[in-house]
Amino acid sequence: MIAVYSSFIKNKLFIDGDWCSSADEKTFAVMNPATGELIAQVADATPADATRAINAAARAQITWAEKTASERSRLLRCWFDLVMQNQESLAQLLTLEQGKPLAEARGEIAYGASYIEWFAEEAKRIYGDVIPPLANNQRILVTKQPVGVVATITPWNFPNAMLARKLAPALAAGCTVIAKPAAETPLSALALAQLALEAGIPAGVINIVPSSQAQAIGEVFTSNILVRKLSFTGSTAVGKKLIAQCAADVKRITLELGGNAPFIVFEDADLDAAVTGAIASKFRNAGQTCVCANRFYIHQSIYDAFCQKLTAAMQTLKLGNGFTDEVTIGPLISLRAKEKVQSFVDDAVQRGARIAYQAAIQTPFQTSAAESFAQGNFFPPALLVDVPQDARLVCEEIFGPVAGLIRFATEEQVIQLANASEYGLAAYVYTRDANRIKRLSEQLQTGMLGINTGLLSNAAAPFGGIKQSGWGREGSRYGLDDYLNIKYLCEAFS
Ligand code: NAP
Repeated sequence: MIAVYSSFIKNKLFIDGDWCSSADEKTFAVMNPATGELIAQVADATPADATRAINAAARAQITWAEKTASERSRLLRCWFDLVMQNQESLAQLLTLEQGKPLAEARGEIAYGASYIEWFAEEAKRIYGDVIPPLANNQRILVTKQPVGVVATITPWNFPNAMLARKLAPALAAGCTVIAKPAAETPLSALALAQLALEAGIPAGVINIVPSSQAQAIGEVFTSNILVRKLSFTGSTAVGKKLIAQCAADVKRITLELGGNAPFIVFEDADLDAAVTGAIASKFRNAGQTCVCANRFYIHQSIYDAFCQKLTAAMQTLKLGNGFTDEVTIGPLISLRAKEKVQSFVDDAVQRGARIAYQAAIQTPFQTSAAESFAQGNFFPPALLVDVPQDARLVCEEIFGPVAGLIRFATEEQVIQLANASEYGLAAYVYTRDANRIKRLSEQLQTGMLGINTGLLSNAAAPFGGIKQSGWGREGSRYGLDDYLNIKYLCEAFS
């Protein structure tokens, strides 16, 4: 691999079109989770910097909203083109700070860019309505207006795509943005801003304030009256705090929160397809995605066969540094994350589950200081069988490469088990029975359902959850709604 990312390492705040230091000149370290090496010291935004960014976004919003939809569309399209032209550099940067295999990182860049492309097109289709009035001397019109200044807070697991999925509809709608990326992975966000600048997106429309003080920046975002909306992707626990903070000003809020996806395989399923889907859904990004299969419900008549096939497929996974060819599972984001996943495995085993398979850590990791750090962050993919329904592996989001299998006997039973969660983001079902698909489509309590597929996210579809998995949708034509206010005009004629 030829390293091409270096020109994309930006280590300043991006406010009002300028790269600047933080008010107190402090920085924080961004580390490579695969090696423990320092990548960059990045300017550490203070609350005063966040306020400055909000003021810049508020000034820019007036002229950005005055542009025609076509003008905004062309700028977004130009940004999309630049992102795709620089896909390899952005992917390398992503692997460097987040750890995912380079092939997956390339996929994330294309996936994030697809939202920019999609909303470049949707920008031109923000239609209103003309509604038949109740009296002949009236006309009822409905128009859509941008919400205004939007603050975003995004996680480290998809540092490019989670931000692109918010920036693109916000800009298409005529909003401007102040973004706080995760402290672990600010570089991908700053690189996106650099390309937006090159694309000609005006100063102040996008502002990025990386910070190690998440709570303090969140308080500025939620308490500043100029911010009309917060869009958050992250854990349900932090989402609940932000809802409470937004309540004071009745600030609009979109929440993409945690998940606990059931993956259900019925006796009539194509088992090979189910295993392929299970690998894609469970082990992508080392199991660190919100829509990852989190609990596998397998019909008792095919349980052993599925277990055998899944074990064989897991044996082909290759754990290692995401820059190494053929690696399919990178490190977890931190040692703390690894310890959490291990504690879930220990809890399940104590409750009666059995480890049917776990990959070994490959020997190269045991040879140098950097590699022993890597061994610390890597979690070998594991398969647990006979996991009880009350295990933490089943009740909580794992965020690691561990699959836990549970037997079920009837459709009614598995629907009840699948719905017994406070989360409702995604679910997956494998069956060939069309009537059963109809019943499950109606009865499973999630915002998204994969039917005979383990991958379901794309820009054309509304992504989002119900219950404690969130409010609002990202992507598709519905993805614009969260960035628009509806205005009703009542016109009277004499
Ligand atoms: P997290 O701890 O909630 O952090 C997410 C973001 O919130 C980060 O930028 C973090 O900053 C910031 N943050 C933390 N505490 C805050 C506070 N008190 N006020 C304001 N901001 C705060 O979540 P995570 O562990 O990084 O991410 C994983 C979670 O995200 C999982 O639950 C996953 O399911 C969810 N997720 C959901 C979706 C979806 O679309 N539904 C997509 C991806 C991920 P720092 O990094 O600086 O702490």
